[in-house]
Amino acid sequence: MKPITVTQIIQATGGQLAAACPSSMAGRAVSAVSTDTRTLKQGDLFVALKGENYDANQFLANAQGAGASVILAESVSGVDLDKTAVVVVADGLLALQRLALWYRSQLNIKVVGITGSNGKTSTKDFTAAVVGEKFKVNATRGNLNNHIGLPLSILSTEEDDEVCIWEMGMNHPGEIAPLCQIAKPDIGVITNIGTAHIEFLKSREGIAEEKGALAKALPDEGTLIVAAVCDFAHYFAERTHADVIFAGNGRGLVRAEQLHLTESGSTFKLVIGEEDTAMVDLPVAGRHMVNNALLAASVGHVLGMKAAEIARGLNGSTLTSGRLRRYDSAGITVFDDTYNANPDSVAAALETLNEMPRKNGGRKIAVLGMMGELGIHADKAHLEVGRLASEFGFQVVSVGENAENIYRGATEDGGDAEQFNDITAAADWLKSFCKSGDLVLFKGSRSAGMERVMNKALPQG
Ligand code: ATP
Ligand code: MG
Repeated sequence: MKPITVTQIIQATGGQLAAACPSSMAGRAVSAVSTDTRTLKQGDLFVALKGENYDANQFLANAQGAGASVILAESVSGVDLDKTAVVVVADGLLALQRLALWYRSQLNIKVVGITGSNGKTSTKDFTAAVVGEKFKVNATRGNLNNHIGLPLSILSTEEDDEVCIWEMGMNHPGEIAPLCQIAKPDIGVITNIGTAHIEFLKSREGIAEEKGALAKALPDEGTLIVAAVCDFAHYFAERTHADVIFAGNGRGLVRAEQLHLTESGSTFKLVIGEEDTAMVDLPVAGRHMVNNALLAASVGHVLGMKAAEIARGLNGSTLTSGRLRRYDSAGITVFDDTYNANPDSVAAALETLNEMPRKNGGRKIAVLGMMGELGIHADKAHLEVGRLASEFGFQVVSVGENAENIYRGATEDGGDAEQFNDITAAADWLKSFCKSGDLVLFKGSRSAGMERVMNKALPQG
């Protein structure tokens, strides 16, 4: 972060320097922000946030002890005000957002905003790899994509960064528009519209309307990039004043030709427009990942990069963990897609497993946990996942009581499936069932914690 002073923090947030602080503290500067006293570093700005189960305003003394030079908080309790400057505000979260908004307005950089139901983090990782070939990049760390994470990403931008690539996530209606107001993206990427968070957004149209806030927020001279395969692509194109690029398998301005999918990744000819081409060797499996890579390639194209340069970035990309990570466990190939799950991402993962060539005599095994936030759609969605896995001829293993409908769906037409309510029982069964040559996929919602079954049953190495 470019250094910011207490005076600037006061101006940006509307707060006040605590009365007992020496007025000379107004000139004090900070160059990093922390919201966690456990990771705070000497000299940081500590912002005290309140969550459902905690209130960081109670830990201001810890923040001071850890070396905070300035604290943004709703109280001064426990702080020696001769040592640490406290800017007092009415609402810590709002203050963080206002500070990020002000900081963004000081930055003369290109901002890429990425939203969509699935694939935001993967697309962000691919985009950072592509754009990083030519520019100095600031990208969202991990999955810090919400009303807290995005301001923190903005505030982590360094003075010499040239392009920012920020993920924007949401669970409830109305969350994307305020994120856009703070981030002010020049280039918007919408990965797809699925059924994630349908419990709160009611329908796919509701989800599209929400993600469409990014299309609407782009300036006239900006660019919207949408996946050609997305059935809402034209809906978004109609809702923006920015230029629109369609990216997609075989279609669109930026596309993949001669696509070859393998267990370890995909190769394809990246084609941009009529003539600009380069071969890509994407180190991640899955047709849906090719789609994400094409969105990333489109960002590179908008920023003036050539196909060869873009391909180099894609070839060297690595994804955040838990996104179709592949590893070997005593001759068994494991696909760790345990980060999260919803009906579309499970379908994409099952299709990926289906498209992989079987290894001599090896079987395909799908170990699936529950999918959350589906509301009234939950039963049907779990049944359908089970049906799809059994249609593909996989051995299905469903784990957790709330995943039992996967087992039911899989066995309706006589598919092979096992149901375990207990992680240890599932892991023990897998240990004795799986053998060298098998391909095993693990997937479930974050709360299902399927990595615990995976690590117990089939550890890496
Ligand atoms: P979150 O909303 O949790 O932040 P995200 O949109 O950032 O998720 P990723 O973390 O990239 O998405 O991927 C989450 C899951 O979705 C992974 O398991 C991945 O395999 C799957 N996935 C990624 N891209 C797509 C896609 N284009 N279509 C369907 N599923 C996808
Ligand atoms: Mg994400």
